[in-house]
Amino acid sequence: MAKKQFKAESKQLLNLMINSIYTHREIFLREIISNASDALDKLYYRSITDSSVPVSREDLSIRVSVDKDAGTVTVSDNGIGMTKEEMDSNLGVIAHSGSLDFKKEVDNPDIDIIGQFGVGFYSSFLVSDKVTVVSRPYGSDEAWQWSSEGTDGYTLKEGQRDSWGTDVIMHLRQDDENENYSRYLDSYEVQSLIKKYSDYVRWPIHMEVEREDYVETEEKDDDGNPKKEWVTSIKDEVVNSMIPIWQRPRDEVSDDDCKAFYKEKFRDWEDPVSVMRVNAEGVVSFRAMLFIPGQAPYNFYSREYEPGLQLYSSGVLIMDKCKDLLPDCFRFVRGIVDSPDLSLNISRELLQHDRQLATIRSNLEKKIKAELARMLDEDREKYLGFYKAFGPQLKYGIVEDYGMKADLLKDLLLFQSYDKDSMVTLKEYVDSMPEGQSRIYYAAAESIARAKQLPQTEQVRERGYDILLFGEDADEFVARTLRDYDGKQFCDVAGGDLGLETDEERKASDERDEAEKEIMDFMRQTLGDAVSDVRPSRKLKTHAVCMSTDGDVSLEMEKYFASIPGADTGRVKARKVLEVNVGHPAYASLKKAYAEDRDKAADMVRIMHDQALLIAGMPLDDMLGYSDRVFGLF
Ligand code: ADP
Repeated sequence: MAKKQFKAESKQLLNLMINSIYTHREIFLREIISNASDALDKLYYRSITDSSVPVSREDLSIRVSVDKDAGTVTVSDNGIGMTKEEMDSNLGVIAHSGSLDFKKEVDNPDIDIIGQFGVGFYSSFLVSDKVTVVSRPYGSDEAWQWSSEGTDGYTLKEGQRDSWGTDVIMHLRQDDENENYSRYLDSYEVQSLIKKYSDYVRWPIHMEVEREDYVETEEKDDDGNPKKEWVTSIKDEVVNSMIPIWQRPRDEVSDDDCKAFYKEKFRDWEDPVSVMRVNAEGVVSFRAMLFIPGQAPYNFYSREYEPGLQLYSSGVLIMDKCKDLLPDCFRFVRGIVDSPDLSLNISRELLQHDRQLATIRSNLEKKIKAELARMLDEDREKYLGFYKAFGPQLKYGIVEDYGMKADLLKDLLLFQSYDKDSMVTLKEYVDSMPEGQSRIYYAAAESIARAKQLPQTEQVRERGYDILLFGEDADEFVARTLRDYDGKQFCDVAGGDLGLETDEERKASDERDEAEKEIMDFMRQTLGDAVSDVRPSRKLKTHAVCMSTDGDVSLEMEKYFASIPGADTGRVKARKVLEVNVGHPAYASLKKAYAEDRDKAADMVRIMHDQALLIAGMPLDDMLGYSDRVFGLF
């Protein structure tokens, strides 16, 4: 029979998994059991929504068995099953391979592909050299058999199964120096793996386990009492505890239990940085267990990421990712909500439950905010880790919806301080403002290091004022959305007036500027449309020039909008102001040239303009002209 090929990206992923992962192979069992559990959920859901499906909860279960002689581990379920077409499409392609991001990271040997991608079914190949799936969909009397030896494709033929459901039969590999595969044939070992990874699966997982019992025999001892001996017997047992962890009393569940639950449930390898438990009584009663992940999922900042909390009603899953339960600004939070007040078929009648969901959401919003604020306060290091992963999301949260969530989020922000070489909150910045400082100064560039180098920081620093260094696109939008914090306005050091001068200083500067009027006119004339103004600078101290802006659009914003694919780049333009340090020797040279050689002076002006652009990280329209002018000075 002709073999079918896996779709290209599945093939690549498969190869990669098989060849590059030597740790954590054992999670294959969790993945296959989770699939079985999903299949049971699906059938059960059908039974409660469709009266023609007479299946009751007690009928449904998972069985794991090992066959030492055949060298196989089998996971069976009597769930929904798969049709031939479903096997073809579900097992022939990897659903979320997130191909692009994933390719980027392929070279990294430490990468945890399973944890990141939840590749599910394919993990069976981590331990098997052949996998056979026999499945019969509920309501059909046809079974099909899918079989594959890994990367070179799969076969699909008619199969045999007495009742509906699915068997995944994994033929284990030979032991080698990397892994002792035969340990998966040991029923104790398998049992402990189920405990470790699948204890909270809400369906019974049966296994035949060997038990040793100390039992009475027919024989009697000298005193006439029955003799006892150890007898080994095989017993069918349910090996998982099944009780949802969030339903158990708080003092019975340790933090470690919650973390283990999180990792199993959300298929993450890292501990969450925070676990929140909520037990609310009121208009809507619910229990929730929420987690803040330790790292952003690989697709978090893409459209592929699906936020939401799992919604249960009395322990039964209603919806996997219920968006309405989670404020979007906290979309990184994962977890579950269980409310007896919501009926089972909520997904069909969602509208009627809108108010209840909104009540839960606003309750959770407060809890999450409080937890983050607590972490920021009590464990800065941990918070920094969180902020590295999800800080950008908080910033988007501020900017989104016209700043509706700005008040909620502003105290959770951190920015790099120029002074302290560390991250500070806005409150910390404002609290340490010296007397006389009335604004929150920031410098924005494409990175924090570049922001720190901006010449416009000079006079602000001279006065002993700290500056927030912005290195991310979102930062400036955040400042613009907030406008002020605690009554202190945000002020771009590359903007117009920085409000640094006293009245007297201002008067002195005005007089000085008046004296430079002729040169400034010459510069303006020379540069024409390239700038909207040329001015003697009140921001510089040691540097010769800088490029600032008038009006609402900053240089960083111009750059940002120019970088959006398909944007009309002409639309968002900053009004550029060339600022010149009239106390700088370069300016003195310019003045001299102006008196002696106008052409040379004009070239100098153009160079000054281009230098200012370069310092600001802006592209030059005429690179070659710039270069020729510089070499003309040699
Ligand atoms: P995921 O579970 O993340 O969707 P998998 O690769 O684990 O991806 O599985 C692919 C699909 O195959 C599942 O979504 C499901 O439709 C189907 N599947 C896997 N195992 C079973 C099973 N035991 N019973 C029914 N369908 C299954």
